[in-house]
Amino acid sequence: MAPTLSTPTALPALEARLPQRRELVTEVPGPRSRELQERRAAVVPRGAVSSMPVYAEDADGGVIRDVDGNSFVDLGSGIAVTSVGASAPAVVAAVREQVEHFTHTCFMVTPYEGYVRVAEELARLTPGDHAKRTVLFNSGAEAVENAVKIARLATGRQAVVVFDHAYHGRTNLTMGLTAKTMPYKTNFGPFAPEIYRMPMSYPYREENPALTGPEAARRAISQIEKQIGAGSTAAILIEPIQGEGGFIVPAEGFLPTLADWARENGVVFIADEVQSGFCRTGAWFASEHEGVVPDLITMAKGIAGGMPLSAVTGRAELLDAVHPGGLGGTYGGNPVACAAALATLDTMRELDLAGRARAIEALVVPRLRALAEELGGAQGPIGDVRGRGAMLAVELVKPGTQEPDPETTKAVAAACLAEGVLILTCGTHGNVIRLLPPLVIDEQLLGDGLDVLETAIRAAV
Ligand SMILES: *Cc1c(COP(=O)(O)O)cnc(C)c1O
Repeated sequence: MAPTLSTPTALPALEARLPQRRELVTEVPGPRSRELQERRAAVVPRGAVSSMPVYAEDADGGVIRDVDGNSFVDLGSGIAVTSVGASAPAVVAAVREQVEHFTHTCFMVTPYEGYVRVAEELARLTPGDHAKRTVLFNSGAEAVENAVKIARLATGRQAVVVFDHAYHGRTNLTMGLTAKTMPYKTNFGPFAPEIYRMPMSYPYREENPALTGPEAARRAISQIEKQIGAGSTAAILIEPIQGEGGFIVPAEGFLPTLADWARENGVVFIADEVQSGFCRTGAWFASEHEGVVPDLITMAKGIAGGMPLSAVTGRAELLDAVHPGGLGGTYGGNPVACAAALATLDTMRELDLAGRARAIEALVVPRLRALAEELGGAQGPIGDVRGRGAMLAVELVKPGTQEPDPETTKAVAAACLAEGVLILTCGTHGNVIRLLPPLVIDEQLLGDGLDVLETAIRAAV
């Protein structure tokens, strides 16, 4: 069963190097950012876009300061990465200490303790008390690729089940696993074979709103059995809360029903917690909210305070099925990134960042629900308010319908930026505003960011 978690009622201010307040001193973007934008256009391809036209100079706690001296409220954490802040003191100190000794030896050549300690931590922190093994990589996509490799080898089967709206990365295999074509996949094929996409549980957009989580899971299972056959299925790969696809929280019972079916059929259940992991949803991992124990978990983003690190942790017998030398990479589990991860995990424990994520939910969700009511409830432009912890979203629709409204969503994000609040969007239809504040943000700064967001939504709809 999932644990019952208590929720702190406040977000006290933590010590910070930069003043924790929003302040604009130039227009946005300012002259120095515009100049950098011009230089960039001459050397960086347009395919590598940035959602913000402002260039960062400093960042700390809940604030990003740009090269023109403007201070923005950060409600994105560099896509759920800097949960401990972008320059958390313990992370900075650990990185400094490590680089003074060695930056790299290659774990496949000369191993070091930091890697082993990260593996020990992840064995303790991830759900389940079975024997576990961990292998480290650099990016979320690389972790997902390796989880699939492990599941295929361990089962001797090939098919991988993924879901509508899924996002798993941009490498060749993970593009194939990802649902949305533009901008991630269009014209980048051919994609890898043996990937099967199943219907997700998406309560707000379910044709039959009464469909329960277990029923939605059986809908997918029935297709798996018909299209692939359990005996040919290596893995079910799923984000417990979908990230890029729109912060979709499946109906209660969906994940446990899939996980149970996987266990009964020798199918590896892989939770992609690259975005939802590390206290983001108010627990160490989002799987915990429904007591799901994945066979393999992929992790990255929040793991190391912004340093590139990713991991696959899972059942010892699955990871140990791989022959010696079958898993690795030059930089995987880099010692500086491992030092940063250990300091990040200590900081998460010391500051109870999972508790702070729950406090963020308790502060934000009632405000967004009240705004939705004020603007017309079910007939208004806010179709849905959802999420867990500090992974929260507002889905915008054309009033009186469920038709996605990506234009208004874009306008809201732009209006927030102009007022000094960095907000990201997501969703298959681009109509979801997502809130991913650093978990160290204080109540006053978060409240200020929300005031700006609410004003922007009222003005745009
Ligand atoms: C971001 C993300 C990835 C890919 O991670 P990268 O580090 O960008 O390769 C994979 N899965 C999920 C759920 C993600 O959110």
